[in-house]
Amino acid sequence: MSKNLSVLGSTGSIGTQTLQVCENLGYAVAALTGGDNVRLLAEQARRFRPQLAVIANEKLYGDLRQALSDLDIRVAAGAEAVCEAATMPQSDTVLNAVVGIAGLRPTLAAAKAGKRIAIANKETLVAGGDLVTRTTRESGAVLLPVDSEHSAMLQCMQAGRREQVRGVILTASGGPFYGMTRRQLSGVALGDALKHPVWSMGSKITVDSATMMNKGLEFIEAMWLFGLAPEQIEVLVHRQSVVHSAVEFRDGAVIAQLGVPDMRCAIQYALTYPDHMPLPGKRLSLADYGSLTFERPDLETFRCLALCVEAVRRGGLAPCVANGANEAAVGMFIAGEIPFLRIAELVESALAEVRPAGGVTLEGIETADYLAREHVARRVGARVGSAPVRKG
Ligand code: NAD
Ligand code: MG
Repeated sequence: MSKNLSVLGSTGSIGTQTLQVCENLGYAVAALTGGDNVRLLAEQARRFRPQLAVIANEKLYGDLRQALSDLDIRVAAGAEAVCEAATMPQSDTVLNAVVGIAGLRPTLAAAKAGKRIAIANKETLVAGGDLVTRTTRESGAVLLPVDSEHSAMLQCMQAGRREQVRGVILTASGGPFYGMTRRQLSGVALGDALKHPVWSMGSKITVDSATMMNKGLEFIEAMWLFGLAPEQIEVLVHRQSVVHSAVEFRDGAVIAQLGVPDMRCAIQYALTYPDHMPLPGKRLSLADYGSLTFERPDLETFRCLALCVEAVRRGGLAPCVANGANEAAVGMFIAGEIPFLRIAELVESALAEVRPAGGVTLEGIETADYLAREHVARRVGARVGSAPVRKG
């Protein structure tokens, strides 16, 4: 079935791969949105001819308009325009590949509009999973995972019924600092953190993989996507990144999903679910690997994973606080303002000290997110920054 997509965050790592998948499937693109990379967004718009092209950074509106002045494409800027791209009647599917909490409002807008939502933007589910899943259920919208582990779980779940699932195994690559001690980690630089052993991704998620915060975020993401309790999720470090995750059924049968690490596979499945469509690319040769290894994560060294589990057990807005503190701290680490180990310390202190009142409403989430960022800024002695438009 042909589809018409709004691709949010089209200029990023997932966004650009999504457009490759659209080309592969012959899907049309109704809207493209980028953060601040006008050149790439304009190039994409020229190629895919959407009805709407949006640059989130309002200051760049004139540049994008200029770059597309000879084409019949509506140009807009700002966060509201990103939400418009998520709700326009021409698109049936919204792929959200925005990084960070900035993806929350567009996801909610798409959910209210009853779209099929392919969600890469895990921070939204961590901060507002309750609100997003509630809104989705009420409108009849469909939420499909793009994250490779969650795509794997969804694929494995096709082997049985949801109520027959006993639990899931969430695999982790272990990141670039696997096996290191805290002492060694105290000296790592940004360049080291950005060298992921398997995946090439945006800078924020790459740092999250190095701290293993990414696995903590994915733990929470899995709970919301599949209605799981924390006890039903086991995290295992699997260095080869071949088993993308697995599902255990109540009779003890464990179904795993395997493949070469290629995000296009997960992106495409979110667009074609429940169908598997042809996709050119490298194929898995298990004999080339010879053996696959699995081990428990080191929660003492990589505190962020344990902190996320603690946050989700506490519930309410605690995961939102952990996410907001992490986003702020990662931004500071990338800017060279704090050392690597400080990220986990800041997430921990935010969780201990920021206790926002109120429920998981849009206002509650945005307030908790702000308070977490404010806490981090105060601790570090910096100015409070709200969610910035990131490079990409
Ligand atoms: P990226 O930094 O490469 O791209 C992010 C995109 O969001 C860019 O288009 C950027 O311009 C846009 N953006 C940034 N700030 C914005 C704002 N305030 N408003 C609107 N747009 C904004 O990131 P990525 O690696 O593509 O990751 C995107 C999301 O997908 C993240 O939530 C990440 O955790 C998730 N994810 C990524 C991968 C991967 O392989 N890259 C895998 C799984 C999940
Ligand atoms: Mg993942």
